[in-house]
Formats: sequence, C-alpha cells, structure tokens
Amino acid sequence: MSSPLSNFIDNRPAPPISGLYMDVTDPATNAACGSCPLSDAADVAAAVKAADRAFPAWSTLTMKARAALMLKFHALVRANAGRLADLIVLENGKNRTEALADVAKGNETVEWACTLPSVAQGRRLDVSRGISCRDERRPLGVVAAIAPFNFPFMVPMWTVPIALVMGNTVVLKPSEKVPLTMAAVAGLFVEAGFPPGAFNMVHGSAAACTALMCAPAVKAVTFVGSSPIASLVSNKCRELNKRVLALGGAKNHLVALPDCSVQDTARDVVTSAFGAAGQRCMAASVLLIVGSRLPSLVDSVVEAASKIVLGQAPGELGPVIDEGSLRKIRGYVDAAEKGGARILLDGRDPSPVPKEGGNWMKPTVILHSDKADPALHDEIFGPVLSVYQVETWQEAIEIENASPFGNAACIYTSKGGNADWFTSRFRAGMLGVNVGIPVPREPFSFGGLYGTLSKYGDGDITGEGAMEFFSDRIKVTTRWPTVEEELEFVKGGAA
Ligand code: NAD
Repeated sequence: MSSPLSNFIDNRPAPPISGLYMDVTDPATNAACGSCPLSDAADVAAAVKAADRAFPAWSTLTMKARAALMLKFHALVRANAGRLADLIVLENGKNRTEALADVAKGNETVEWACTLPSVAQGRRLDVSRGISCRDERRPLGVVAAIAPFNFPFMVPMWTVPIALVMGNTVVLKPSEKVPLTMAAVAGLFVEAGFPPGAFNMVHGSAAACTALMCAPAVKAVTFVGSSPIASLVSNKCRELNKRVLALGGAKNHLVALPDCSVQDTARDVVTSAFGAAGQRCMAASVLLIVGSRLPSLVDSVVEAASKIVLGQAPGELGPVIDEGSLRKIRGYVDAAEKGGARILLDGRDPSPVPKEGGNWMKPTVILHSDKADPALHDEIFGPVLSVYQVETWQEAIEIENASPFGNAACIYTSKGGNADWFTSRFRAGMLGVNVGIPVPREPFSFGGLYGTLSKYGDGDITGEGAMEFFSDRIKVTTRWPTVEEELEFVKGGAA
C-alpha cells in the first residue's frame, strides 16, 4: 500500500492538520489500497487561503496565458493516461477500457477549456447617440468543486479546467472513495507550470465539504453526487448567497417502439445499462417496451447481457464500489422478486469471481409487472436493468414523466416523426434518439432538468454553461462626446 495521501495546497503536498485518515479500498477485493485524509475546517481554511492569495495575480494574467498552461496540462494528461487509468481501475473498479475512457473524456473538457479565448468574449452595443453598453466577463474568485466516486477524473474535469481558464482559483474535494487519481493529477498542474494556489485540493468527506461551502472567500460551488446531498449543498449555498450548481442522481428511461431495430437497440441498451457496472448517472435504468416487440427485444437484451463476464479487462464487468452499495443493489432485486417480478437474468450469485473478497455482481434483468415496484423508481446505481411493457406511447411518456428524476431519456425508433413526438415530451435534461448514453459534448453543456432530483441550482456543467457559471458579466455603460459634439464644443469655445 502506498504512503498516506496529503492535501495539495500552494503546489505542495500538505499533510492534514486534522491528523485523520480513512482507508481507500480496492472494490475488486475490498483490500486497503491507500489512505485518504479526512480534512477538517483548518485544512479547508488553509486551501481556501492559498487560493484567495493566488487569485489577484492569476485573474490578471491574460486568458490566453491561462489557456496556454492548460494546453500543457492537456498534453501531460495524455502522456500519463495509462498511469491514471491504472489508478482508476484500482480504486474505482472499472475495467481498463472504461478507465481509459474516463481519462480521455475528461481531457476533452480540458481541450475545450483551451479554446475559451475564442468564445468567452463580452458584447458591445451602441444604445443611443454617443452611449454604448458592453459587458465584460470577470472571474468570481475562489470556487469549490465537490466530486462523486464514479468518474474519478472526468467529473473533476467538468469544472476545474473551465473555472481556471476563466480566471478563478479552485479548491477541489474529490470523493474520499477514489482520491488516488486526482492526487496523481495534482502533480501535473505543477509540471504544466500553474502558479502556486491556482489549483488546490482537500480530501475528506462531509466535514470538509461543509467547511468548503461555508468558507467566506468561496464564491461558488459545484457539486456532483447523490440527490439528498445535492439538495443539502444547494440549500446551504443559497442560504449563504453563493452561486451553486448541484447535480444529483438519476433514473433514466429508455423507450423502445415496435419499429426499432431489435439487434441495435438490444446492444445499445446493454452497453448503457451495464457499462461501468451501472454506476453512471447516464446509465439505462428502465427499458419501457411499447407493444409487440417485447419477446424478441427482451430475449436479445438477456442474451447479450448474459455474455458479459466479470473482470477488469476490456469489455468485462467490474465490481461495484463498496459492500454497502452491493447490499443495497441486491436488496432491490430481492424485494422485486418477492413482489412478483420475474428475474430474467439473475446476477446476485457472481461465482466464480475473478478476485475473492470484492463487490461483484453479474448483470441482472428484471421484468416487472407491478408499476409501483421501488426498483422501477429509485436510483439503484448498479448492474440492474428494469423492463416494463406498456401498450401505448402515452403510457410510456406518463411513466417517464412521473419520475422525480430528470437526467436523461432515450427513444429507439426508425422514424423521425416518432422520435420528435417523444423528444418533445420527455421530462429530462439530456435526450437520446437511438443513443442510450446521450452525453452532450462541448460546447454543449451537461445537466439534468431543473426542478427535479437530478439538478439543483444555476445553469449547467461543462461547455458554455460552465463558462457562464464561472464568470460574472459586468455591465459597463459609456458616454463619450461624438466627433460632431466635440467640434461644436471647439467652435463654441472659440466664439
Ligand atoms: P455522494 O453524494 O455520496 O458523494 C458525493 C460527494 O459528496 C463526495 O465528495 C462526498 O464526500 C460528499 N459528501 C458526502 N456527504 C456530504 C455532506 N453531508 N455534505 C456535503 N458533501 C457531502 O455520491 P457518490 O456515491 O459519490 O456518487 C454517486 C451519485 O452521484 C449517484 O447518485 C449518481 O447518480 C450521482 N452522479 C450524478 C451525476 C450527474 O451528472 N447528475 C454524475 C455523476 C454521478
């Protein structure tokens, strides 16, 4: 096991003042593979102070200068992708292809952040004779980012690079379940030439997050994680009059119409439901099958899912994050079975497992008959797909619209008109047509629907939404004498 991690403040490792640590475990075996600081308010204060001290110099560099450093960081991430992916496999459990994708997708946002000087300009308009209005983007100051366990690199990159290039200084709090990846990334900021205090990181859990939100110098907070904590973070920040964007959980519905391609739909649904062991906020959770395609589509889904083997090599299904999560996932399947659902593919007994002692579960497909089954409605966050048959399009929409979540939804069909009917009625922030994981890429932003359990706060994350979030538009109204007025004045003065 490697030596205990430190916080990262002013470009240097900073052992936690709290002196407290927790074990980081390998989900494949549950053996300890690291030691994560549990920072307290004093640790957070030190990181925020460093970020606050760095802000005046960092924010007055040109945006091009900041983007140039980010470009170097981008190259370093690419050069270190294999090493970072190894850490993601170790602490998160993903298979190696998924871990490399975590790094590559995160680095796409870094790449977009490098283009901000071409898109982040202000505006100017002449509004009256001699009077013009313009707005200028200004950074906010110190901003905080709080991340979940399921994408150790990609989710921190949704905000950190954009916040930095826009001129803010950052304090990141990675998930205490997966702190090793970002600990390795911190050194790359130094290697790229970022000045001390621009990027800082504190490890820990609830206490560190609370101290971060409450620190007076922190002007804005982004959070990605479960809905109850997203709601709590959003309420706290609102109370403190801070800008906040808090993305929560998901229960994504995929609707298959009778005119969909059975093979393509089955393949896509299986990838969406079981990739990353179902621990994605974009994972397919519920497949609603309209009409007569049920037997052939379900057979194809079950056949494709049953071929997935456990392991962490490309294409294999990794473990879920911890024992508590495994217990919760199995509990939903047990309860659904008790309530009369048919378990078409049962992954609860994972034997033989690739490594002993880990949180393994094979793909599971449940065919529900009770519309009220909690497994159909709650976020399970594991390798479980719920299937439910409906007779009409209207019924499919009613079920999707009734979900308290609103992250993503997808329609499978071969007709454009059918797709339009559904995309104009789905109640979710990110929609797919024949795409089970409809992740918008920059310059588009990522985020569920406001007013649901999937999103609280302002704007969207990544892309142009993050550019807006991490800047203030300062409005400047100017009045200068026109050339004609100047001439009149000179003439008048001469007389
Ligand atoms: P989590 O809510 O348990 O933890 C997320 C972060 O919150 C961690 O850094 C944790 O330390 C911190 N935290 C824990 N308790 C806190 C408290 N009381 N106050 C403030 N912060 C606290 O989430 P998780 O289990 O790490 O991640 C899985 C969840 O994240 C799922 O619900 C998933 O859907 C969601 N998620 C959502 C998106 C999205 O874009 N909507 C993306 C990825 C993950």
